[in-house]
Amino acid sequence: MGTFIDGNFIDGNGAAGMFAEALGIDVTTAMVTCVSCGAAGRFADSHVYDGGGPGIVARCAPCGSVIARLVRTPTDAWLDLRGARSVRIPMP
Ligand SMILES: [Zn+2]
Repeated sequence: MGTFIDGNFIDGNGAAGMFAEALGIDVTTAMVTCVSCGAAGRFADSHVYDGGGPGIVARCAPCGSVIARLVRTPTDAWLDLRGARSVRIPMP
């Protein structure tokens, strides 16, 4: 996980480790379609913020809507993808 600066963000690559741990996949090459604006973009290009709590939020780069939240507790990972219409994961 990257280092957050207050009010600043990292790109999706910085959150890849957390998602890989939870999902067992590399999300950086995944294509995510935003519910809010319909834009499809690489997860790596999303803007990832410290959620202010135990988790992180990924926001759509064009419109700023939250497309994914990930909260890691000592025993579980909670993934909220309600802001993503679809997530396309390349299967080599
Ligand atoms: Zn959007």
